[in-house]
Amino acid sequence: MKETRPDWEIYERMVARLIADQSETGLCVTPNAKVMGKISHTTRPIDVVIEARHDTDNTRRLIVDAKHRRQKADVKDIEELLGLVNDVGATHGYLVTSSGYTKAAGRRTQMSASIRIMPVDRLENFDPSTWPKCKNPLCKQGRIFWDGYPEMSLKGFPVDKSSELKTMRFVHYVGKCDRCGTFHVWCITCNDTLLVQHDNEEDHGHQCRCRLPWFWLASVEEDEESCKSAELHAALGNGQIITVDRRGL
Ligand SMILES: [Zn+2]
Ligand SMILES: [Zn+2]
Repeated sequence: MKETRPDWEIYERMVARLIADQSETGLCVTPNAKVMGKISHTTRPIDVVIEARHDTDNTRRLIVDAKHRRQKADVKDIEELLGLVNDVGATHGYLVTSSGYTKAAGRRTQMSASIRIMPVDRLENFDPSTWPKCKNPLCKQGRIFWDGYPEMSLKGFPVDKSSELKTMRFVHYVGKCDRCGTFHVWCITCNDTLLVQHDNEEDHGHQCRCRLPWFWLASVEEDEESCKSAELHAALGNGQIITVDRRGL
């Protein structure tokens, strides 16, 4: 059965993809995020969240509201965004719209919110249903959104038996499902895709078929203000643990 997604959802994913491709590596991007409001104490859906990748640090969060529709964005849209910025403790909110905005909306933007226009004509060549399927058996038609590319290196003798000690590099893709948010790791070397759940206490880590001295595991972490985030870590053979991806909860 062909998977069909509504245009507004494809637009949201396109915005997320463009942001992820342009962000510095210290930031991670989450499409279709769900973050607990500090004021409302309720889960707030957010089209795209950009936040710190490597540390349990929720103070640099940016959020995006992507609006694919015919009408111009208006004052109410900006006010909703400002409310969301406030509630989830973001430093800035971007309203990305396909159809421009009213003058009043432009005046209503302030330090903590701004507007970007992204036309829909780019949508034609963009299809999230070509992304790999989420491996979570409970997930309904989620697709994996890759947003980080950690590389491990290992000194050793290569298989071609040349006597020279070489540094071998192993590239991975890390990301999360665009529906259920579960982390995944794709090892380019052996082509394994691992599902790494953050909310499973019994989960003690995952290794790809390369069986090299590192494994992947996920956890829930809390910052000083008790804001939670799901985090994906790489545990290296030397005992070092690196956080390679995150998403606010
Ligand atoms: Zn999923
Ligand atoms: Zn592998």
